[in-house]
Amino acid sequence: MASETPPVAPRRCTKCRVQEATLDSRSQAVCGDCFAKHVSTKCIKQIATLGKETRSPLGPSTGTGPPPTARRGYLLGLSLGVSSTVLVDLLNDNVDFQLSRGRAAPFDLVAVHVDASPLTTNTQQTTTTAAEETLESYRARYPRFTFLCIPLTSALTLPTIDWSTLPALDKTQPADVQLQSLFAALPSTTARADMQRILTRHVLIAAARAHDCSTLLLGHSTTALAELTLAEAAKGRGFALPWQINDGAYAVVDYPPSSPSPSPSTSTTPTTILIHHPLRDLLRKELATYASHLTTPPLTDLIPPTADLSNAPVVSHKDLTIEEVMLRYFADVEENYPSVVANVARTTGKLVRIGAEARCGVCSMPLDEQGDERWRGELGDPVLREGVAGRLCYGCERSTRG
Ligand SMILES: [Zn+2]
Ligand SMILES: [Zn+2]
Repeated sequence: MASETPPVAPRRCTKCRVQEATLDSRSQAVCGDCFAKHVSTKCIKQIATLGKETRSPLGPSTGTGPPPTARRGYLLGLSLGVSSTVLVDLLNDNVDFQLSRGRAAPFDLVAVHVDASPLTTNTQQTTTTAAEETLESYRARYPRFTFLCIPLTSALTLPTIDWSTLPALDKTQPADVQLQSLFAALPSTTARADMQRILTRHVLIAAARAHDCSTLLLGHSTTALAELTLAEAAKGRGFALPWQINDGAYAVVDYPPSSPSPSPSTSTTPTTILIHHPLRDLLRKELATYASHLTTPPLTDLIPPTADLSNAPVVSHKDLTIEEVMLRYFADVEENYPSVVANVARTTGKLVRIGAEARCGVCSMPLDEQGDERWRGELGDPVLREGVAGRLCYGCERSTRG
């Protein structure tokens, strides 16, 4: 049968067998519709799982009084990159679909971009940042969702960080100057990238609490989770990986001001929020295909043209962060061995969270009581600052003290 096929005939999609195959999906030739369906199905499966976990805490109506309010508030961390933008688009489609079936919107979404521009520019509240302007186009395209821009400087006042473990800030200075001094004191490019990621996470968690959202959604792809896994292990935070990579409940601990390192049980009751990664089963390149080919207009119109790190020329290997090294590495692996990428993330997914009480004052991850000692033993003692009372995990100790 195939022998009759002229060499120029279009390939049929291996899934629907109707349309022409124009794309490659994990070594199968597929059409655009089937590719888009693959992406959306993987995400919606995760969102449905989350929906079951976030049922109204009030339970079913008792029959008297008003029905329980089943508002589900989700807060989405919007980096303005491909993955988180695709996540916004897929969630919007999901709401459209539910409304078209005559159902209520399944959740309210607040998307928050944590603006790191105070790190590099002096933002004296007079100019609109580039990020703010970009968010305007997101608001126009997804009017039912709320889009907020929060400067990274807001991390400086958060109670979820044990400030006694970090170099003292000069509170008389403007916030962006304080933030820049904090970063300037860090020992390496990797340490600065690490701190930025940790502070961004704190700001997102604070925003989720402020907006009464039970859940924080992060747009990490399979590839991003694999990168995070290896980067965090390389930095000595392997113990905390199940808390970082897996989906689930996360207890937020507040430190009372000027009282270093309380045991969590004596501080205010921790709030629990859920942290989920709905794109965990999709490769980064699949999300890139979705963003550039499968929506009208393409999502790439929204995404600001920032440098693609995986293709940027290496100026100096010394200045590459561990994350950038991983990004380059996995861009290769993803192209040729996608199942390896999936395996790294899936294997970490099987790790169990060992009960741990003590938390790191900076990244909030559980402390590995014996393991941190072991890391220290193999990699040498960090220089301890005088009078530091709070406790840090091995990774944060390296990042803040060198
Ligand atoms: Zn098809
Ligand atoms: Zn830490």
